[in-house]
Amino acid sequence: MFENLSDKLDLVFKKLRGQGVMTEENVKDALREVRLVLLEADVNFKVVKDFVEKVRSRAVGTEVLQSLTPGQQVIKIVHDELVALMGGGEDNSLDLAAKPPVAIMMVGLQGAGKTTTCGKLARYLKSQRRRPLLVPADVYRPAAIEQLKTLGRQLSIEVVDARADQDPVDICRNALQYAERSGFDTVIFDTAGRHQIDDFLMDELVRIKGAVEPREILFVADAMTGQEAVNVASGFNDRLDITGVVLTKLDGDAKGGAALSIKAVTGRPVKFAGIGEKLDALEVFHADRLVSRILG
Ligand code: GDP
Repeated sequence: MFENLSDKLDLVFKKLRGQGVMTEENVKDALREVRLVLLEADVNFKVVKDFVEKVRSRAVGTEVLQSLTPGQQVIKIVHDELVALMGGGEDNSLDLAAKPPVAIMMVGLQGAGKTTTCGKLARYLKSQRRRPLLVPADVYRPAAIEQLKTLGRQLSIEVVDARADQDPVDICRNALQYAERSGFDTVIFDTAGRHQIDDFLMDELVRIKGAVEPREILFVADAMTGQEAVNVASGFNDRLDITGVVLTKLDGDAKGGAALSIKAVTGRPVKFAGIGEKLDALEVFHADRLVSRILG
């Protein structure tokens, strides 16, 4: 029960060590273990299916190297393919090379960590010598406006004033004009979330997108979301054409398989990882670290 993938695969390949090529039969047993590990990490089952097929075609017929055990060899193939699937090596930095003020729109379900991530991102951009402005556009959860203002005070970063009776699209449009007049080079929009996707929310987000023409639309996803992450991410991507993902709560128990699923289904890169509640708990995302975490 406490064996890791490496031990399990060594058992599967016990008879094959140091000789011959990997056959359909022993690769099949190994891939059963790989499939379980991915499902336990909450990777979407459809994504797992496609992935395992890819690894099978690469592994069968591979000569068993003297230097690695067959198990290690399969793990290496799995590792490399997972990193490739996650876009390892691709540029996943923010695209802010436009005429300022550059707009970044944060979207996602309620509780995913949007407001917190707005604060973290503003802090990160400030450390990169940018001048960010924060915009609270979630008028349905009045506490969200106050929450963002509190974060702004902690960071000494300005948060525009907004009231719950204002139209979120107006708030965003006015904030962008204010940023332009006042010399802010980056504007981060904290938009409303819901417990699930609905048309009203999506229509509003589409209107905000039209009003501020964001360079980045970052979908904030909770790493604990599990199998459902794919549907939610597709829903947001279909309507908004997101440019990237922030995966939050990676400091928890979740293995982060949701990141794999979201990247596989939307094709959009994970750009940042949230690793705690504090404002400095944000990291630029590294595919290989996540893959090591998943494979244990
Ligand atoms: P929103 O509804 O999407 O704006 O979510 P919030 O920003 O209010 O966050 C919801 C909860 O998740 C809060 O208690 C945050 O402190 C917490 N949270 C956000 N990001 C992280 C993270 O990376 N790690 C942990 N452990 N908690 C987080």
